[in-house]
Amino acid sequence: MDLLIFWDARAPSGIQAALSRELGALLPLTPAVCESHFVVTGYMPSRRQTDASVLLDSLDLYKKRTGISHPILLVVSEDLCRSGDEYLFGLSRESTGSAVVSTARLENEYYGLPADDGDLIDRLVKESAHEVGHLLGLPHCRNRECIMYNPLVLDDINRQKRWFCPACRAHLG
Ligand SMILES: [Zn+2]
Ligand SMILES: [Zn+2]
Repeated sequence: MDLLIFWDARAPSGIQAALSRELGALLPLTPAVCESHFVVTGYMPSRRQTDASVLLDSLDLYKKRTGISHPILLVVSEDLCRSGDEYLFGLSRESTGSAVVSTARLENEYYGLPADDGDLIDRLVKESAHEVGHLLGLPHCRNRECIMYNPLVLDDINRQKRWFCPACRAHLG
């Protein structure tokens, strides 16, 4: 167990095992889904979004308080933003080993399309592997098919493969 996946109670259920399995196949670490008692903070009523930086601050405090030293990937359904960013698919903080991803804009429903768990899992795997890649020290990559390409819109994530390009893979070791 090298990566704890904290699944917020409001995040879509039934896909935890799939995400954990796929991340384990993509990354040189063993993920484990944990019951999370972490309370999501950072909601900004004026934007109806959650500030991902504030959220990671709280997660860092939670880790300190509970003595958890493993990296944590938190999965939430809240729409994330940050000062200077209209929205974020996820955010990571390598120095503390904390990352968050949001399912809000990964779901077809957000774009007025019929729900599809397969689509959601595919995007969530890529976005999660991207943020955990940062935790492992990977920077952004210019290869548009690589998981470490910086996705700005959903199409960017759809275009990415479940794949680290050879340069990024070499960096992962
Ligand atoms: Zn990134
Ligand atoms: Zn790459």
